[in-house]
Amino acid sequence: MAMVFSYSQLSRYLHCPRSYRYRYLDGWREKDTRAAMIFGRCFESAITAYFYEQDCTAVLFKEWGAHRDATFEYGKGDTWGKLLHQGMHLLHKFVQDDRICVKSPSKNLQLKITQSLPGGNEFLAYIDAIGELDGQRCLIDWKTTGSRYTEEPDGLLSLDPQLICYSWISGIPDVALVVFVRKHLPEIQYLRTSISEEQRQEFGRLVHSAVSQIAAGQFPPHSGIRFPANTCTSCSHLGLCLAKPQLIDAKLIRRPGASDLDWLDHFDD
Ligand code: SF4
Repeated sequence: MAMVFSYSQLSRYLHCPRSYRYRYLDGWREKDTRAAMIFGRCFESAITAYFYEQDCTAVLFKEWGAHRDATFEYGKGDTWGKLLHQGMHLLHKFVQDDRICVKSPSKNLQLKITQSLPGGNEFLAYIDAIGELDGQRCLIDWKTTGSRYTEEPDGLLSLDPQLICYSWISGIPDVALVVFVRKHLPEIQYLRTSISEEQRQEFGRLVHSAVSQIAAGQFPPHSGIRFPANTCTSCSHLGLCLAKPQLIDAKLIRRPGASDLDWLDHFDD
């Protein structure tokens, strides 16, 4: 059966093939209870509204307001109101900075790009934006985070696998990450880099190799509990590997027919 792959799927497979099987073949999904992740989605809706010349702060208030009474897991010191306040501050700063331009937002925001793979399979990506940073054209990805991205040493960003993936699928070498940092004094990082042709080709080979291993049914566990390979300690599928029903109930829900939901993967970023 032909399959559609995304960056989230590939990334999970490379991290731990067993986790990939649980998530994409057996249909075990994490419960959507992480406040920071849901807030990130609401914030990105507000960014989209800004480029459509709508009131982005009103959109954030409406979207995030729908979750006011939800029982989310908040990070240390975070509350619903604190995230809203930080988001408003970041939106004001983004508008004031005025460093990003996206013309024709209906064409250049949330672009769906596909690439054919052997065996009738397909790789699908949703690119946040194609626009200009300080007047220079580039592919843009938004991130909301609780801490700054590391910028040193120079060139580090060119090793970001998601940006390499997006450069590979779009063929665009110049890429940028706009990082909305939720902290006491909110900050926006505008980070830019170039992805080489060699990196794009290597990524293509990585995709082909992972897809052929998936097609061959290879899902060995990449287990680890000690630094730096401590993959299991933060894995939502830990309850399945340890056969602990309570842990499974706390973290996961099962949705049979997970492959029908693959198009949702771009929201996992
Ligand atoms: S608990 Fe460890 S071995 Fe099991 S799926 Fe998660 S990362 Fe893989």
